Amino acid sequence: MSGEKFREQITRIVPGDTFSFLCHDRVSCFTDCCRELELVLTPYDVLRLRQATGLSSSALHERYIIEEHEPEEIFPRFYLTMVDDGKASCVFVNDEGCSIYQHRPGACRTYPLGRGTTRKADKVSEQFIILQEPHCRGFQEKTVQTVQSFMTSQDLEPFNRFNDRLTAITQHRAIKDGMRPTDEQIRLYRLAIYDLDTFRAQLADNRIEPPQAVPEAVYENDELLLEFALQFIERHLFKH
Ligand code: SF4
Ligand code: SF4
Repeated sequence: MSGEKFREQITRIVPGDTFSFLCHDRVSCFTDCCRELELVLTPYDVLRLRQATGLSSSALHERYIIEEHEPEEIFPRFYLTMVDDGKASCVFVNDEGCSIYQHRPGACRTYPLGRGTTRKADKVSEQFIILQEPHCRGFQEKTVQTVQSFMTSQDLEPFNRFNDRLTAITQHRAIKDGMRPTDEQIRLYRLAIYDLDTFRAQLADNRIEPPQAVPEAVYENDELLLEFALQFIERHLFKH
């Protein structure tokens, strides 16, 4: 899609604005948005995919995740694999819809909204858009939504909370001022926040010794482990 066409499909929206939209399994476009897409995964998405599939994070990487680190990018990106079926379908879509619906990634929940954030000191500001693609029939439904009602209906709170913790790293002042992580720091970034099972095992074996104390709960609870991993990487990269 050309940049101009993409811009034509975007409307800025602020909390309190309303729009008509509903997605359900009787729309004629059902699952169209699960094909021909580039689905970037966040650390919290990977955590939820582990829960959905019962796979370890390293097995998940082997089977379902493609890692790319373009020379012009500061941090690597992680994409969900698509199937080579001529439609580049998501590995988790079937005739009934999404086979991991309860654990689907944040981007799938957010669509057709887009959420961006900017940080000033520790304050996060949100900006929203609606992406109205011609194939998406959900806009013909009469259900009136606001940004807040839509995000609540999609259970987006933990996804947004962890994404904001991630952007505290990727949009850190030092990064904006030109600091670039070393290869070793990138290796640790990937390990700690995208490969939680290996990170947990290496903490338990003292192969990684973080500057902060390791609470016992991180060995039992995935979300606490991810929170700890994000703090660890932030301190490791920025030494505070
Ligand atoms: S994870 Fe589920 S909702 Fe997301 S693209 Fe795949 S099938 Fe669709
Ligand atoms: S294209 Fe729009 S209405 Fe159709 S399934 Fe996807 S989100 Fe729902």
